[in-house]
Amino acid sequence: MKRSTGKDRSVTRTWRPATQAVRAGTWRSEQGETSEALFLTSGFSYDNAETAEARFRGEDPGMTYSRLQNPTVAMLEERIAVMDGAEACRVQATGMAAMTTALLCQLSAGDHVVAARAAFGSCRWLVDQLLPRFGIATTTIDARDNAAWEAAIRPNTKVFFFETPANPTMDIVDLAFVCGLAKSRGITTVVDNAFCTAALQRPIEYGADVVAYSATKLMDGQGRVLAGAVTGSEEFINSVLLPFQRNTGPNLSPFNAWVVLKGLETLDLRVKRQSENALAVGRFLEGRVPRISHPGLPSHPQHNLAMQQMDACGSIFSFEVEDREQAFAVLNALTLIDISNNIGDSRSLMCHNASTTHYSVSAEARAEMGVSEGMLRINVGLEDPQDVIDDLDQALAAAGL
Ligand SMILES: *Cc1c(COP(=O)(O)O)cnc(C)c1O
Repeated sequence: MKRSTGKDRSVTRTWRPATQAVRAGTWRSEQGETSEALFLTSGFSYDNAETAEARFRGEDPGMTYSRLQNPTVAMLEERIAVMDGAEACRVQATGMAAMTTALLCQLSAGDHVVAARAAFGSCRWLVDQLLPRFGIATTTIDARDNAAWEAAIRPNTKVFFFETPANPTMDIVDLAFVCGLAKSRGITTVVDNAFCTAALQRPIEYGADVVAYSATKLMDGQGRVLAGAVTGSEEFINSVLLPFQRNTGPNLSPFNAWVVLKGLETLDLRVKRQSENALAVGRFLEGRVPRISHPGLPSHPQHNLAMQQMDACGSIFSFEVEDREQAFAVLNALTLIDISNNIGDSRSLMCHNASTTHYSVSAEARAEMGVSEGMLRINVGLEDPQDVIDDLDQALAAAGL
């Protein structure tokens, strides 16, 4: 196996993002294949016993076992690291495996975590339910409020954990401020960048230490596989995360890694077009629905900050109708857009978060983070935006809007 283009990472790092998404991290076997090879193998064999010994000693760079290394998985890891501007990356079986690994690998009993209260339901479960069971204290705050981050810090605060934009409220966190504050206090920031990917937002440029992904969403982008990724410094990934991952095994299968590699080839194209489409759909909905939370529209209270940090608004936003009954009526009248809780797909998808993605979050926590009974979240896909608008137009009318 050898690198196909850009002899080493110092070259791929100078490429522009769209080029990196197609080519970074590509290794070729002696066959010279153009598309990345799929190494669907759990183990590797050795020419002799001495080579096996040398590989386990780390003196021979070859591979030993796919929980430890796999060529297809390694290609994906290198591509994501380069795109993020990170020194290193490891991929996991799902976005939640990535979040759990990124947090548990560095936390111990007695530590304290400050987290954004507006977050994906399972991320809230980690913070509210899992970490406290292991003696890790957690505080959830309104992450839009810079002063709230500072006020929540305790002497034992080890990690700041948040997503921006947040799922599904579209709250924006000030990356430069929060990452800068963390750095000045020796706290590690873990940013869930699933809604943007490196194609729209690179938190490491703002001083983030660790970036975690659900690659299920925009990276695959076609609703096929579950996948996750964590990027950061060589020191964090190799010395802190890797021992945890190798010994607990939340690994991504080579097949799913290969599918995500194929997804990344079109990432730049898709997120830009989907952002344009989402802006058109948002403009249509504004004024037609009681409330809309869309980072690309000036009506979003943090529109300027969002547009500073993000290259485009992304494919996802939320809006509100009166109540759960009206939200269900809108969903049930859709003819093109699917009722689905997935996001980042090239298909337009819509869901009622309070009864699906945030079902496991208590009603009080939902109210506090702003997930109302009338909230609907939409992922705008690659269809002609006018067809999406026409579908919403008739569905809203059917629901009395
Ligand atoms: C979907 C999602 C996750 C979880 O990812 P999976 O791949 O479904 O495990 C985590 N964070 C955010 C913001 C998400 O949207």
